[in-house]
Amino acid sequence: MSRKKLIAGNWKMYKVKDDALEFIYRVNLDVPSKDAVDTVICAPAIYLRDLVKREGENLRIGAQNMHYLEEGAYTGEISPNMIKTVGVTYVILGHSERRAYYNETDETVNLKVKAAIAHQLIPIVCVGESLEIREAGTTDAVVREQVIKAYKDVSKEDALKTVVAYEPIWAIGTGKTATPTQANDTIKAIRGVLRELYNDAADEIRILYGGSVNVKNVEALLSESDIDGALVGGASLDPEAFLFLANAAVDK
Ligand code: PEP
Repeated sequence: MSRKKLIAGNWKMYKVKDDALEFIYRVNLDVPSKDAVDTVICAPAIYLRDLVKREGENLRIGAQNMHYLEEGAYTGEISPNMIKTVGVTYVILGHSERRAYYNETDETVNLKVKAAIAHQLIPIVCVGESLEIREAGTTDAVVREQVIKAYKDVSKEDALKTVVAYEPIWAIGTGKTATPTQANDTIKAIRGVLRELYNDAADEIRILYGGSVNVKNVEALLSESDIDGALVGGASLDPEAFLFLANAAVDK
């Protein structure tokens, strides 16, 4: 089963507007064709509208979070229809930073996954374990629970519209990467959970690795059988690094 690779940048709370626009201009010039690899930059919400206008043929723009409700008295929040109406394609859901700092739970992630699908947004559903869990040897069980809860009441047809990102918390922004084998083994375990839920459709759902992916380690990670791309924080801030990662994913 060949799954087209996806390289997704997560800018987090970085870049002022001019840098953001300049980045998109630069990347549009050389980003590989979407026939060969999918690429997306998940930008701060305040720039989404401007960036979507400049997204070009191949590069897509995504959001980093959203509420699950369409509207309401939720000061500071942004709804799925708001990001959809500015033309966003993807949305990162359940990033470990949101789970750690903003009380995101498996239950809210599930509500958001269903809301994203209902608004024709492609959710990038993040799961991953802490260092304590990795060291205790219970990674697969913990990640299994996260996947089962995130996909509760999501049909096979809808699950096929999603992307999973396996991001060990200990590898995010730390410079410590999971080894290609560690990442591939856990991603295989996640695919096993998706197989329990959706049978053979599991082979069509892309599962990315995220955690200190950079120009030096990307080749080895993407050469693994089950790693279908990368969710990239730090290295996605530099247009040349992002282009390198996107090119590394072509024909993998
Ligand atoms: C992320 O933000 O999802 C991430 C993986 O960050 P970094 O690449 O900086 O570890």
